[in-house]
Amino acid sequence: MSELNSGSMVVTLLGTGTPQPDIERFGSATLVQAGGLNLLFDAGRGASLRLTQVGVPLGAIDAVFLTHFHSDHTAGLADVYSSGYIPGPFGKRTKALPVYGPEGVEELTDGLMMAFRGDLRERAIKAISEESTRLVPNQVREGIVFEAKGVTVTAFGTYHHDFARTFGYRIDYAGRSVVLSGDTAADPRVADAAMGCDVLVHEVAAIDASMADNDFFNNVVMKGHTSPEEAAAIFQKARPKLSVFTHIVQLPGGNIGPSVESILARARDHFDGDLIAGTDLMVLHLTQDGVHVQPHAQVVEAIA
Ligand SMILES: [Zn+2]
Ligand SMILES: [Zn+2]
Repeated sequence: MSELNSGSMVVTLLGTGTPQPDIERFGSATLVQAGGLNLLFDAGRGASLRLTQVGVPLGAIDAVFLTHFHSDHTAGLADVYSSGYIPGPFGKRTKALPVYGPEGVEELTDGLMMAFRGDLRERAIKAISEESTRLVPNQVREGIVFEAKGVTVTAFGTYHHDFARTFGYRIDYAGRSVVLSGDTAADPRVADAAMGCDVLVHEVAAIDASMADNDFFNNVVMKGHTSPEEAAAIFQKARPKLSVFTHIVQLPGGNIGPSVESILARARDHFDGDLIAGTDLMVLHLTQDGVHVQPHAQVVEAIA
């Protein structure tokens, strides 16, 4: 029996980056596979490339769940959408694609469908069904937002900024569970949602020591993100089997910010459980025997 049919859940970190264009870390996107479903959480820059690398046709995504509307979490949706309805092996969508997100999600889905009308007019491929070009908006509220094939997705509110409507998601299947924080300041609701889960994938941000007094970083950026010490406190409370950092914000940016190792070290000073830094294409296998980390997915050349 394959892993996907055996009560296991597979979580692939497709993009672990931030708004900064980075060839190593694409925009936020996480693939959760359970019960034969392919669920995509956020669709940041490059999500379609990463999905193709792990052999999942864009048209095989059953639903997209957005944590919030910041473009580093949505910029890749246009490509997943519009390349997904092309009948080639990489696309092949046959039905409408549900998109779950905070209030206002229809602005994104309606806008994308409008933006690609010209593509559909000019592509002139009769094999593209009208149904496959439809995005179906679903407004998320706290609580269970999706149930199918034994998979339950539960949304919980988080705090990113006063003007941002943000959710984290918990996905449960056959006794296995993963929690995705999305972008958030340290929020006890994440710990509550993640209590005793298998894997907690949490965002993190840190400022380089040389800029420790920078007003914008401290009083704007960090107010909407979680420091390594704050994340450690959440891990300590929730006690997941494995904690994973993603969306690693290294201020003032990229290679000149604090190293990933230093961010891990700061958190580990306050948390004694298993904690790793996620990387693009890392695969987490959630099984009855525990969580197994595959550092790098087996990448396909192309979907045939
Ligand atoms: Zn954000
Ligand atoms: Zn973000």
